[in-house]
Amino acid sequence: MRMLLHACCCSCFSSVFEQIGGSYDLTVYFCNPNIKPDKEYARRLEELKNYPPSMGIKIVEGTRNFIELPYGPEGGERCRVCIGYRLNEVAKYSKENGFDIFATTLTVSPHKNSEMINGLGQVLSRKYGVEYLLSNFKKKNGYLRTVELSKQYGLYRQNYCGCTPKEIHPS
Ligand code: SF4
Repeated sequence: MRMLLHACCCSCFSSVFEQIGGSYDLTVYFCNPNIKPDKEYARRLEELKNYPPSMGIKIVEGTRNFIELPYGPEGGERCRVCIGYRLNEVAKYSKENGFDIFATTLTVSPHKNSEMINGLGQVLSRKYGVEYLLSNFKKKNGYLRTVELSKQYGLYRQNYCGCTPKEIHPS
């Protein structure tokens, strides 16, 4: 099956790739216009392109256009809108380019609500007529593996998702 896998950084990707990389004909979709500043965006994309275990796997960069997000803390409505926007791009690209299934690495993060993400994925699956892989990649030591693999390959681990701290906690 041809899968379009949305990924936002190499550390999260490393564990998900270990879990499902062998089961699909994979293309990685870096669609993360939420990541600020530009330097950070470029760093995450570059590292993804150079991850030794997935060398040779195609990486496509998605849109850099983004939307205004509602104000609020991480984990709430602000994130739902942000993730919904990105997953919509993933599902749309899947449909337009003949993928059988789409998925996201986002559920590997303990800061992300897998139920909310899977709900969005299912809605978009119906909208575009492309299968969505339900996931909770943090389970079965999935998150722990991001830490271990990052150590093994010397991966960069950012301490924030994509919004600058000021956007979430303006003082
Ligand atoms: S914390 Fe992450 S998911 Fe939430 S709004 Fe910011 S960039 Fe998007």
